[in-house]
Amino acid sequence: MSVNEKASITERGAVLLGKHVACDAYNETRPIRVVTHAHADHMAGLPQSLKKNAKILMTRGTKDLIDAMQGKSYLRRGNVQPVEYGQTVQYEDEKTTLYKADHILGAAQVMVEDKEGKRIVFTGDFRIDETPILECDILVIEATYGSPHCRRRFHKDTHDSLISLVEHGLKQGPVYIFGYHGKIQEVMQILNNANINVPFLVPENVYNISRVCEKHNMRLGKLVLQNELQAFTLQEKQDPYIGFYHMHSRNRIGLDNFRICVSGWEFYSATRQTGEKEYLVALSDHSDFDGLLEYVRRSRPRLVITDNYRVHYGETLAKEIQKHLGIPAVAQPKNRLF
Ligand SMILES: [Zn+2]
Repeated sequence: MSVNEKASITERGAVLLGKHVACDAYNETRPIRVVTHAHADHMAGLPQSLKKNAKILMTRGTKDLIDAMQGKSYLRRGNVQPVEYGQTVQYEDEKTTLYKADHILGAAQVMVEDKEGKRIVFTGDFRIDETPILECDILVIEATYGSPHCRRRFHKDTHDSLISLVEHGLKQGPVYIFGYHGKIQEVMQILNNANINVPFLVPENVYNISRVCEKHNMRLGKLVLQNELQAFTLQEKQDPYIGFYHMHSRNRIGLDNFRICVSGWEFYSATRQTGEKEYLVALSDHSDFDGLLEYVRRSRPRLVITDNYRVHYGETLAKEIQKHLGIPAVAQPKNRLF
């Protein structure tokens, strides 16, 4: 097997590692499917995988999140094997191991070791802060912020900025916070640790995911379901509370209230005012451009493949890796089929 036959990304977004593994999309040539984490763009083709793959590997945290989102019977249709970080699964002559990725609950990097001892790694989505760097021969890396324009230029602590903004908002009444699954719970944890003890009002999908995070030892605060009597009372009296909703609800919920969107797509300041009572907080669960390069530098691969399926910066990141680090790098796939 030549170097680039050991890893590639297909036009449908499957990250192929070694001979047997496909990560984050279904691929008919691979018996093993890995789900690196419970974000939708990493669960492509899961119904087919449940029908056809010999084994589907994911962490317990990822499994619990998918159970909460899809119902428990969903994953029971296939041969899902929950694995711990660091636990190795052997399939014929290759070993597959999941390692922690600092992203959302349960997120994992994947390492395949082939029979020659070559290490092939896929980072999945990650934030470099708490992600262990895996040394390897071939590295497949995410490219969400793979452009030099995506450098966080601020050094102010984003957590402190978020906490002060929420405290400021609560003086005026309820605060609504919008983010993606996983990030919402990270915000709850930050606010709870800062002793912001007002009730957290949540819809059912956010509630279910939050309960999973609590089961995995995150401490989030006092959750109130939006259809409970207590929620109606809080809203009627306009007592201080924080509503947490998925980003998709931001155009229809809490329109007259103090609002905060958490998003990584902000590189110049930790917070930015975007409307009369609306702010953006630059809390990201991905590495910025410098973090991506740092991972590659410390991982010391002979070849890098950048994920050009889930974002548009694959090509840019591959060029920048070659320019700054002198390591051969290619973006895959060249074309995308959805
Ligand atoms: Zn993700």
